[in-house]
Amino acid sequence: MKTRRAQVEQRSLNYTERVDHDVGHVPKERISEPAVCRECKAVYTGGRWAFDERLRRDYRLQDLEPAEVICPACRQIRDGLPAGFLYAKGAYLAEHLEDITNLIRNETERMSHENPLWRVMDWKQLDSELTVTTTTAHLAQHLGRMLHRAHAGDVRYQFSDDDVTRVYWERN
Ligand SMILES: [Zn+2]
Repeated sequence: MKTRRAQVEQRSLNYTERVDHDVGHVPKERISEPAVCRECKAVYTGGRWAFDERLRRDYRLQDLEPAEVICPACRQIRDGLPAGFLYAKGAYLAEHLEDITNLIRNETERMSHENPLWRVMDWKQLDSELTVTTTTAHLAQHLGRMLHRAHAGDVRYQFSDDDVTRVYWERN
């Protein structure tokens, strides 16, 4: 099995070497502007991604055809390469599961709306353990901070040299 680093290096042959701060480990592809992601409909303009329905309507009104691309977040989701992991566990989690899942959902929705490249990729729940994977390390860290702020407990951040962050939250 290929390591993540090997996969990233192999993929970077096709893209520029510049690494976007917001995207974690995914090399930034040179994208012509304006562009629209064909999967999530995020718009790329002015060097950033935004969910902007009005902008897309303006393009249509102006007969402007944005380039059709796949945004880095959708590409990551497709390739299954998370940059953030949130592991939550403990007896308290089982007792407050609904509150905690709502908090994570609401925060993720809010953050994804502001930063289209911050997305939840996968969500696994097994009894008193919850694992959430994200497209950016920042989102996993943010969720850890929010959990700690709202529900106390212990939170630990583990940063690795492949730009992947693991966040462990526990309360019993
Ligand atoms: Zn997209």
